[in-house]
Amino acid sequence: MKKHNFSAGPSILPSEVIEETAKAVLDFNGIGLSILEISHRSKEFQAVMDEAEALFKELLNIPEGYSVLFLGGGASLEFCMIPYNFMEKKAAYLNTGVWAKKAMKEAKAFGETVEVASSADANYTFIPKNYEIPADADYFHFTSNNTIYGTEILEDPTCAVPMIADMSSDIFSRPIDVSKYACIYGGAQKNLAPSGVTFVVVKNDALGKVSRYIPTMLNYQTHINDGSMFNTPPVLPIYSAMLTMRWIKSLGGVPAMEKRAKEKADMLYAEIDRNKMFMGTAAVEDRSRMNICFVMTPEYKEFEADFLKFATEKGMVGLKGHRSVGGFRASCYNALAKESVQALIDCMQEFEKTH
Ligand SMILES: *Cc1c(COP(=O)(O)O)cnc(C)c1O
Repeated sequence: MKKHNFSAGPSILPSEVIEETAKAVLDFNGIGLSILEISHRSKEFQAVMDEAEALFKELLNIPEGYSVLFLGGGASLEFCMIPYNFMEKKAAYLNTGVWAKKAMKEAKAFGETVEVASSADANYTFIPKNYEIPADADYFHFTSNNTIYGTEILEDPTCAVPMIADMSSDIFSRPIDVSKYACIYGGAQKNLAPSGVTFVVVKNDALGKVSRYIPTMLNYQTHINDGSMFNTPPVLPIYSAMLTMRWIKSLGGVPAMEKRAKEKADMLYAEIDRNKMFMGTAAVEDRSRMNICFVMTPEYKEFEADFLKFATEKGMVGLKGHRSVGGFRASCYNALAKESVQALIDCMQEFEKTH
């Protein structure tokens, strides 16, 4: 049976990317060796790194003066690398969920950390608005897509201090104005690659402004100087990331991904709003296109486990909502086909008819 993969992360990748990665594991570019057993300093892998970096810059329209890095440690390591590299005295954070809060926790060890707004009291079902960012903050940090709660900031904010964003779960799903940011980072395992690599886009002249010693491996400048090869980078996930970016480019780039994402999200939210058994959990104006969270309405609450079983039997995978929200979460990343969203909608309609 065909599986429809709605997993939140690691998550669906284009089948071409998985096939090409598998081929490279057996014989990389016809060199008679696996990509698993070649030097990261070989000319073959250097070409992969160069293309990955170039595609990242091309697809996101990254202006001059920025570096693209591929590192280890996940988005979670960035939570401390950000204050290490950018915070001298004070930083501002928008608290929109677990990941935002974890990032903020690390900053507190480095200096005055201001929570400009929070939706914690409403279990993070909306994105706070009209908050004030202290003019003397070294940077403002936010999470563009809240993977667990299904809320998303779809427009790049504007603020007077350097802006930094965790874009783990919505990178490459819509065009962004990179020139507004000092740094953009994320774990690649949501919308780009298998787990193991972290992408970081950093504005070169935003660095070098803190007076503390930064440990070598945690210093962005180290990785800029060595083209992400100060130490051994995650070779295989970088290769897959490069393939995913080729795939995005072949389909028309990030604007085409945004169009696909809008279509899929509109279809599914329309069904959630129409179907008497289901309701969305996020505030309508803040609904994420990537992670669509919904529950059963109070009168049908008892059928939640039944629906999950029903959908699973029809090939749906990864639909169970995060434990802190409950219900269901359909992650609709770039690689998820419209047909999979339609298959889920069919399940919801069939379930409604029979209950
Ligand atoms: C998954 C996720 C993370 C954690 O990423 P790791 O690579 O596992 O550290 C951080 N932020 C967001 C928004 C995420 O979705």
